[in-house]
Amino acid sequence: MNHDPNCIFCKIVAGQIPSRKAFEDDELLVFHDIAPWAPVHVLIIPKAHVATMYEVTQDHAPLLGRMLAMAPKLMREHGVTNGFRTLINTGEDGRQEVQHVHMHVMGGPRPWAKG
Ligand code: 5GP
Ligand code: ZN
Repeated sequence: MNHDPNCIFCKIVAGQIPSRKAFEDDELLVFHDIAPWAPVHVLIIPKAHVATMYEVTQDHAPLLGRMLAMAPKLMREHGVTNGFRTLINTGEDGRQEVQHVHMHVMGGPRPWAKG
């Protein structure tokens, strides 16, 4: 599996940096954001290193579909029943800080810190 030893999210996948995990299988990991914007704020990532959405091809479509499709179940499991946001930032103008594709899923009662 593709792995970048300098990537913070690859280190989380490898267990070299601790995280509060919400779900894991052979190709995806979900963990809670360290600086949440909302009462519930998780990040869904592929375990394989893909730096940005610019590197995504049609081969990644099933993986991205799985990431999106797991959001409602995850939110329900965390008591989020009144709506949530899904967000993928890409590149500099997209304000992507961590160069490993991740989908933010944010929910819970407002006010939120951002968004
Ligand atoms: P981006 O701006 O790249 O879309 O979002 C990166 C997110 O990763 C930010 O919301 C930030 O709080 C989160 N983050 C950065 N480093 C860590 C970390 O070491 N652990 C966890 N759990 N989240 C992190
Ligand atoms: Zn990575």
